[in-house]
Amino acid sequence: MEKVIVLGTGPAGLTAAIYLARANMKPVVIEGDEPGGQLTLTTEVENFPGFETGIMGPELINNMRKQAERFGAEFKRGWVTEADFSSKPFKLKVEGLGEVLTEALIISTGASAKMLNIPGEKELLGQGVSTCATCDGFFFRQKKVVVIGGGDSAMEEATFLTKFADEVEIVHRRHELRASKIMQERAKQNNKIKWNLNKTPIEVLGDGKKVTGLKVKDNDTGEEHIIETDGIFVAIGHKPNTGFLNGQLETDEVGYIIVKPGSTKTNVPGVFACGDVQDNQYRQAITAAGTGCMAALDAERYLEGHATQDWSQTL
Ligand code: NAP
Repeated sequence: MEKVIVLGTGPAGLTAAIYLARANMKPVVIEGDEPGGQLTLTTEVENFPGFETGIMGPELINNMRKQAERFGAEFKRGWVTEADFSSKPFKLKVEGLGEVLTEALIISTGASAKMLNIPGEKELLGQGVSTCATCDGFFFRQKKVVVIGGGDSAMEEATFLTKFADEVEIVHRRHELRASKIMQERAKQNNKIKWNLNKTPIEVLGDGKKVTGLKVKDNDTGEEHIIETDGIFVAIGHKPNTGFLNGQLETDEVGYIIVKPGSTKTNVPGVFACGDVQDNQYRQAITAAGTGCMAALDAERYLEGHATQDWSQTL
């Protein structure tokens, strides 16, 4: 049996692991199919405090991981398919590891940006295709970018991108926007934003190194044409990675885990959530790291009072 397991190796999970390991809690960190999370999909991170000239996303993750290992965190590769919180210790079914028992659990499985799944998109991710304007907008100064989507995220990303890009074109698959009135109005009043409605994106075009355009189809006429662009921001929503929970934790209607305000506590004592899996608002590496620290402290306090096994011999 483990004392505390951390699920996920983005900035939230790794920060939790650093704090737990440093407190001698011997955390076991389970990393899934996308180790490092969304930061490993970005290039340069310029807004993580402490790196005056920026740092590459994968390097930042790698540093955090090594920092956690230095204090004794143990990393295991596996994919959690099921969790059982009905009794203590908690049970996890992990592909590659079998059944794992733990006294406390920190869930930091993140949220994945929804992708269009069209040709060229995956190949050019990080080379002009992005899912985060806050992370990558700065690289498109004086350039032209396309934002795909008609919800609040698309409006927000497009408005933010006008700080950098000369032209921002919103491509949306319907005539009507899903975004709230206020966000729509803000975008409509911005004269750097152009609108290209009722178009379905069908292919991301590139020159082998970077994005050069987006091929779209007009949903009325069926005609196809190419929008020339330097960057494509896919803003069609996020999906929290909470499928394995099977409804055992309180989530909102999209699946984000609900935590008690000001903490990382879920509705099951001993199960904590941090990072994007419980945050559909900020979604930044630094906010994820902050809640990772909170989760470690919350778990530590919980274990002080609730551990079923005497762990003193293992410390
Ligand atoms: P969303 O509301 O689900 O909107 C997603 C948009 O992407 C929709 O317009 C949708 O088109 C489009 N879309 C989805 N799949 C697509 C596909 N395969 N191809 C092309 N287009 C596709 O997601 P969101 O904008 O991320 O917002 C999520 C939640 O966070 C909302 O509750 C929102 O209010 C909130 N949020 C709030 C703020 C804020 O207040 N500052 C900022 C961001 C997000 P259809 O409209 O045709 O379905």
